[in-house]
Amino acid sequence: MQLVVLLLLVLSVPGEARAFCRSTTCIPKSAGDCELDEQGCRTKGKPFFWSSGCVGFSLHERGSNNISQGEIERTFHAALRAWSVVSCSGQPASFAYGRQENVVCEVGHDPRGPNANVILFRDNGWPYQGASNTLGYTTVTFESSTGRILGADIEVNSGQNIITTEDRGVRYDLESILVHELGHALGLSHSNNPEATMRASYAEGSTDMRTLAPDDLEAVCTVYPPWREATCDLTPSGGFTDCRNKMPPPRAPELPSCSHPPGPPGVAMPQLLLPLVLLALRRSLRRS
Ligand SMILES: [Zn+2]
Repeated sequence: MQLVVLLLLVLSVPGEARAFCRSTTCIPKSAGDCELDEQGCRTKGKPFFWSSGCVGFSLHERGSNNISQGEIERTFHAALRAWSVVSCSGQPASFAYGRQENVVCEVGHDPRGPNANVILFRDNGWPYQGASNTLGYTTVTFESSTGRILGADIEVNSGQNIITTEDRGVRYDLESILVHELGHALGLSHSNNPEATMRASYAEGSTDMRTLAPDDLEAVCTVYPPWREATCDLTPSGGFTDCRNKMPPPRAPELPSCSHPPGPPGVAMPQLLLPLVLLALRRSLRRS
C-alpha cells in the first residue's frame, strides 16, 4: 500500500520529472543516512558507471537443475541484448553487454587478480535473508571515490521459486529477472515508474520486464550517452578468469536484510578491500 501511495505521489509531480534512479556510493549505516530526492533517488554519493563501453558477462558452468542449459543460454542472450541495442535519438548508447565463456567463479571481486562477471543459479538454498520473496540479487563492486563499477555478479533464487523461460505458463520469468538484474549491474537503482523494468517488484506471471520501458531507455541514454568516449573492452577488472585455477575471490559479508520494503530502496554493506577502497552494493528483485 505504501508503494501505491508513493507511485501516486510521483506521478502527480508536475513537469517532466524522471523516475529512474542511479545507484550511488552513499552507503547508509542507518536509516536516513543517504538523502533522497522527491522520487526516492539518492542525492548523495557518486553515481555508478562503467568506464568501458561494453561489459562481459558469463554464466556459471553448473547452470541450474531446474532449467535446461539451452533455455538458460537463450534467455541469457536475450537479456544481454535488451540493454545492448538501446537507441538514443537514433544514435546507439555508449554501452553494451557481451557474452564471455562460462566460468566456475562464485560471487565476489578480487582486487588483486582477474575476475569474471557471473550469473549463477541458487538451486540449493539461498544464502541471504529474505528468501521467501527474493527472485534475484545483484552484487556490484565499485570504487568508492568515483563510483566506477569494477564488477557485478547476479544470483537467481531458483531453489525457492518456479523459474520459467517460456511464453506460456509463466510463473517467475527468467528473462524478466535477468533483464532487471542486469539493469542494476549497469548502475541503475530502482525506479518509481510502475512500467519500468527497473521497478522494485515483479508480479507472478508477467513478462513485461523483458522489454525496456521508456524510463529504462532514458536511464541508459543519460548514463551512457552516444557522445561518451568509451572504448569497448569486455575484459573484467584485472583481466578475465574462469576461476578454474584460482582461489575464490573474497566474498562480501552477508547482509542483515536483502529485500526492499515498499518505498525507497537501499541495502548496502561496505567491504574494505585494500589497496583500492571498494564497496559492494547488493540489490534484490522481490515478488509482489
Ligand atoms: Zn532490483
